[in-house]
Amino acid sequence: MSNQQLDELRGQLEEVNLQLLNLINKRGELVKDIGQIKEKQGMNRFDPVRERVMFDQITEKNDGPFEDSTITHLFKEIFKAGLELQEDDHRKALLVSRKKKPEDTIVDIKGDRIGDGNPHFVMGPCAVESYEQVSQVAEAVKKQGIKLLRGGAFKPRTSPYDFQGLGLEGLKILKEAADEHDLAVVSEIVNPADIEKAVDYLDVIQIGARNMQNFELLKAAGSVNKPVLLKRGLSATISEFINAAEYIISRGNENIILCERGIRTYEKATRNTLDISAVPILKQETHLPVLVDVTHSTGRRDLLLPTAKAALAVGADGVMAEVHPDPAVALSDSAQQMDIPTFENFMAELKKQ
Ligand code: PEP
Ligand code: MN
Repeated sequence: MSNQQLDELRGQLEEVNLQLLNLINKRGELVKDIGQIKEKQGMNRFDPVRERVMFDQITEKNDGPFEDSTITHLFKEIFKAGLELQEDDHRKALLVSRKKKPEDTIVDIKGDRIGDGNPHFVMGPCAVESYEQVSQVAEAVKKQGIKLLRGGAFKPRTSPYDFQGLGLEGLKILKEAADEHDLAVVSEIVNPADIEKAVDYLDVIQIGARNMQNFELLKAAGSVNKPVLLKRGLSATISEFINAAEYIISRGNENIILCERGIRTYEKATRNTLDISAVPILKQETHLPVLVDVTHSTGRRDLLLPTAKAALAVGADGVMAEVHPDPAVALSDSAQQMDIPTFENFMAELKKQ
């Protein structure tokens, strides 16, 4: 076959491609129109009987060279794409999505504007143990120019025999220490019934990994006028995480900060596996600020600094980590909390970036 013939056939093929393109899009327009009528009439978009009729019509007219099964397969893809087109039209974009709101949400906590493009830090002990303990950490946190002090008062522990936290008393201690240094309080709430009394003592409600799909808690946190720091569930997909945030925003509270804290995998070298790629994905898909908790994701003091660097490099709005005056005697997470000199060095190294 001469080159000229080949060129001519290729030219024809390109022509057919364009015709197919036109026809597929023309079909798409028809499918959309049909979808709108079906929606108005409350009819199901997918109709298997109708699809069967169309397949029969098509294969009956099929003179090859493609086999009926191949033609059916190709048309099935076209039908599916049509259905998706109807669904995209129908499905409302999530309130947390960038589709819904292209600009970044900035969560303002006592003047600390998370999501403003600068790195922010949430630092403090795993659990509130005493006033002296929190107060020492608060002073160190303040010295670093950090605004957000964390500390668990209601602790979700794996074993019921482990330290469960000081409860409301712990929140009061945390607030007292925070107030002395003009810091804002971030603390976890595990029971929807505690929110009402806790809001007086905290500036950010943390919803922990174990409660990411506690829908009643999400709804309750969505109904108050307090920023929420939502942590990713231990085995939650990104889509589940985003939907959990949607529960909060759908109740009217849009001050939500997402926090990647590692997920459970087969890997044993770290406590969890930090899913660093979740950060840019969450930033792309949602308009919410995203933090990375380097303490619970790695569970290793030697990995706090490199993972914090990675988090900021990949676009996180900030980092959470645990600091304790004497980690060796901490009532929880003693292996991974930083003592104060280590914390100061951690911040100095991060500032060099
Ligand atoms: C915490 O931040 O105190 C905590 C318990 O973390 P997580 O919910 O991510 O395990
Ligand atoms: Mn902890």
